[in-house]
Amino acid sequence: MKQLSFGLPRRTRRAERNRPPFGLRPDVRVAQLSGTPVFDKVVAFARDEWQALESFQPGLLIGHAADLKQLAESVRAGFIDLASVDYAVFVLTACGEPPVDDILRVLLWQSFGVPVYELLVTEDKELLAADCEAQEGWHVQPGVDAMLLDNELVLRTAAGKVSHTGQTAEIAAEACQCGRKTPRILKVERLRRPAEIRRFAAIA
Ligand SMILES: [Zn+2]
Repeated sequence: MKQLSFGLPRRTRRAERNRPPFGLRPDVRVAQLSGTPVFDKVVAFARDEWQALESFQPGLLIGHAADLKQLAESVRAGFIDLASVDYAVFVLTACGEPPVDDILRVLLWQSFGVPVYELLVTEDKELLAADCEAQEGWHVQPGVDAMLLDNELVLRTAAGKVSHTGQTAEIAAEACQCGRKTPRILKVERLRRPAEIRRFAAIA
């Protein structure tokens, strides 16, 4: 009797699907706040385990905005010492959530003193786009398509999964000074639907 599973692709763990947006220093220890690790070699710490970050000594932190904000406040209050963070902070933004604002970027910079990169992910943490190292917008990940549909920024994975962002943007295909070849997403702003614009106009 034939084995039904023969030839089926091995179930891919989530961490194996994503590659970091750019090459990471090989020795850097990466800690993620809550959730399933988005990359290989990332260790996740649930909220009640954050004190253990001190002994883990991460150089790079990954997390959603709310978790990073809470951790930064704990660091600033002196509850957790994370002087080990010397590489970067990656903020995970799920499609449909508002992008990271300047207030959080400043808080993270003041708390950790390292560059902050935003990573746009699907609801199940598949990486779609990430801040450029030269701060020239978000580069889409290889294999991901970015398009504007009715002015809304929409991203489609290689597997055909479509994510709506609720934002409008510009998409640039020219070469980038950082050396990455994928298109960039620039000038991301919350999309206002025509009805909403009319309502604002009426109020003004
Ligand atoms: Zn770039």
